[in-house]
Amino acid sequence: MTSPAGAMTRDFADRNMLVAYVRQEFPASESVDGHVAGQRGGRKAALAALALVDPAAYARTRNHLDGSVTRLSPYVRHGVLTLAEVRDAVLGTVRDPHEAARLLTELGWRDYFQRAYAALGDGIWRDQEPNKTGWRAEEYAGQLPDDIAQGTTGLACIDGFSAELRATGYLHNHARMWLAAYIVHFRRVRWQSGARWFLTHLLDGDPASNNLSWQWVASTFSHKPYIFNRANLEKYAGSAYCQSCPLRAGCPLDASYEALAARLFPRMSGGEAVDSGPLPAVDGEHGTATAQVHGQTIVWVHGDMLSPQSVALQAQPGAPAIWVWDDELLAAQRISLKRIVFLYECLLELPVVIRRGDVAAEVLDFARAAGARTIVTAASPSPRFATIRRLLEQEMPVAVLHESPFATAPRALDLRRFSRYWRKVERSVLPQSGARRDV
Ligand SMILES: Cc1cc2nc3c(=O)[nH]c(=O)nc-3n(C[C@H](O)[C@H](O)[C@H](O)COP(=O)(O)OP(=O)(O)OC[C@H]3O[C@@H](n4cnc5c(N)ncnc54)[C@H](O)[C@@H]3O)c2cc1C
Repeated sequence: MTSPAGAMTRDFADRNMLVAYVRQEFPASESVDGHVAGQRGGRKAALAALALVDPAAYARTRNHLDGSVTRLSPYVRHGVLTLAEVRDAVLGTVRDPHEAARLLTELGWRDYFQRAYAALGDGIWRDQEPNKTGWRAEEYAGQLPDDIAQGTTGLACIDGFSAELRATGYLHNHARMWLAAYIVHFRRVRWQSGARWFLTHLLDGDPASNNLSWQWVASTFSHKPYIFNRANLEKYAGSAYCQSCPLRAGCPLDASYEALAARLFPRMSGGEAVDSGPLPAVDGEHGTATAQVHGQTIVWVHGDMLSPQSVALQAQPGAPAIWVWDDELLAAQRISLKRIVFLYECLLELPVVIRRGDVAAEVLDFARAAGARTIVTAASPSPRFATIRRLLEQEMPVAVLHESPFATAPRALDLRRFSRYWRKVERSVLPQSGARRDV
């Protein structure tokens, strides 16, 4: 596909040319961080990663840094693969559904956080509950310390995770938990500062999974703070970090959990565990359009639907489609170069015209030029999506289509804790042993 006038280029001989173009067009992202990740964007790379998933090995080893984790998160985050698609592919590889139970439960976390995002909107940036640490919110520092951001704390593990995050845009789940716990509890920094830093770098950077995981570590979306010690780190990361650590003789993590809790939370009484009541779910409207599709249409492609199999692209084959780089969002979230390269690679496998600027204005301009009477797109829980959709609807109907759901849930779903959500939906995700799943 060639680039029409006013559009950004789609013609690159190789990845180096793409990266050079992104550097030139998005200099601010390079000044935030100029690394390019090894992991490629796009449906082809996503399907190749999906084909390698081994649910049994995953269940055995997923907590270890060198375990058989899937690395699917950037693809799932951006809708290159849907959760339902991954669920079905995973179930297709096992003889007994229970071999896939661990992995399906982890995929459930993503579904859970997306549902919570739909309920909370930008509230995901606010403490959902009081800290259970004995510290008040204002007793945490507001800024991420420079030695953590630059990886110069002297602790080999923390500096290693910081460097890996910046260079690759990926961290294993355990490394994310340790790094977050170090920032929030060992350095007493507000979780929001760490969450922003992660969103700058992670290829899978997702406001819901990210912020609510940070809140889970912090204890503002869980019943107690998450901490770790050196023994836990060595169990799951091996001894490489500790052996090379300049601080190995005076490691601040080398203590029992009781000793660490007494040091980190001297005012914690145990009475802090409060339940702030249920977090209500929002209805999903799965599979339905929320506006009639009339006459000529265009498809507005956004960052939650970067698959050629997206429900909106599939519903309107051959309709002109547009992606707009949201300049305001890129600047506000300080998105790094590697995230832009990853997204650009996803776009190059889609039949879209690529523009940049004010999203609503560009989409409407494109729709008018195509003589469109309806804009078709896919659903997203993001408040930014809702704002842009409202602006579009001032001029033209917007049909919002929903992907097949990962889990079917009752209306009165309580999202305050994952366990409550999972109890209600598990049977719809995980067929009983010996039973065939209806898909
Ligand atoms: C502080 C912190 C920040 C995080 N930020 C993000 C984020 O911005 N984006 C993001 O997608 N995940 C985030 N996670 C969740 C989790 O760490 C990643 O999804 C996972 O490590 C991605 O690697 P993987 O694909 O190899 O995961 P696997 O272990 O192979 O899991 C398979 C898939 O299940 C989903 N998944 C697994 N665990 C979780 C989880 N705890 N929460 C949500 N989804 C999960 C992901 O889609 C993942 O690709 C965060 C976790 C923590 C502790």
